[in-house]
Amino acid sequence: MKKAICKFNLRMLVSGCCCAFAALGAEAAWAQQTLPQSAQTAAQADSFMQKIKIGSLVVYSFIDSKQIFSKTLFENIDQKPQCLALMPEGEFAGVVKTYFLQSADRKILFDAGWGKSSGRNGNTLELLAKLGVQRDAVTDIFLTHMDSDHISGLLTNGMATYPRAVLRVAKKEFDAWMKGAERKTQKNELARRVAKAYEGRIELFRYGQEVLKGITAKAAFGHTPGHTLYDIDSDGVGMTIVGDLMHVTPIQMRWTDYSNNYDGNPQEAAATREAVLKEMSQSKRIVGGMHFEQVGTIVKSADGGYKFSQ
Ligand SMILES: [Zn+2]
Repeated sequence: MKKAICKFNLRMLVSGCCCAFAALGAEAAWAQQTLPQSAQTAAQADSFMQKIKIGSLVVYSFIDSKQIFSKTLFENIDQKPQCLALMPEGEFAGVVKTYFLQSADRKILFDAGWGKSSGRNGNTLELLAKLGVQRDAVTDIFLTHMDSDHISGLLTNGMATYPRAVLRVAKKEFDAWMKGAERKTQKNELARRVAKAYEGRIELFRYGQEVLKGITAKAAFGHTPGHTLYDIDSDGVGMTIVGDLMHVTPIQMRWTDYSNNYDGNPQEAAATREAVLKEMSQSKRIVGGMHFEQVGTIVKSADGGYKFSQ
C-alpha cells in the first residue's frame, strides 16, 4: 500500500500538482477508506512525522512539504550517468522538512518550512497540532538559514505565525540577508518581512555558542553566507541538524563535491559538505537534514563518499 501511495505522489507532483497536499490528499483518501472519522487526522499526520529520542529529549522530524528537485540544478549531470541514474525521469522526489524539539520547559522549532501563505500549503502547523502544540505555545525557532523554503512558514498573512516565539538566527546569516548586495531581490524582501514581523523577538548568536541548553550552533558556510547547523546533545546522545548541506542526498552524499545551483558558493558548500559528513561518520551522531527523508547515522561508503548506516 505504501509503495502505491509513493508512486501516486510522484506522478501527481511531476505532472504539475506541485504542492504538499497532492501527497497528503493521497494519504487522506486512503485513510477515509479504511479508518473511522476519529482516526483520520492521526493517519494523515503520522506518515509525515518521525519521533527520535535524543537522551532525555524528544525530537520530531516533520515533512512540511514534498518538493521536486530537477536535474537542471546540477551542472553537466548529463555527462554523469551514475548521478543521472539516481534521478529517474530527470527529477528527484524530495521533501522540505522542519524539526521540533520538546524539552521539559521549551517547545522549539528548527526552520519553519513553506507555511500556509506561500502557495505551497506546508504541513508544519498541522503536525504541531497533532502533538497538541498550538502555534502560540512554540517558545523558540532556530533557523539554519533564511531561504524561502525555510522561512515562509514564519508568516501567515504577513503576521508572525508563532506570536510568542523567539527567533534565533546566526548574526552572520541574518546580516547577510538584511544588508547583502542582493537585498532588492524577492528572497531578501521575504527575509525583511520576517524580520519586521518578529521585531523585538530576534536573538542573534555567534557560532560555537550553546544557544540554549543542549543546543550548539556551528558554522556550515557555502549554501548561504551564514548557513548554520545545530548539535543537539542530551545524556551522551547526539543529533546534528544539518540544514541544506544536501538537496539530493543520494547524489551529494556519494559525491560530496557535487554542489548545485542552490548553493551560493559551490566550492565552499562542497568543502563544508565533505567536512561535516566526515565528522558525522566518525562521531556516530544522528543526522537530519531539511531535504532528506531519512534520519540516521552516517558511515563511509566502500565505493566513495558516505551513506546512511542502514
Ligand atoms: Zn532548502
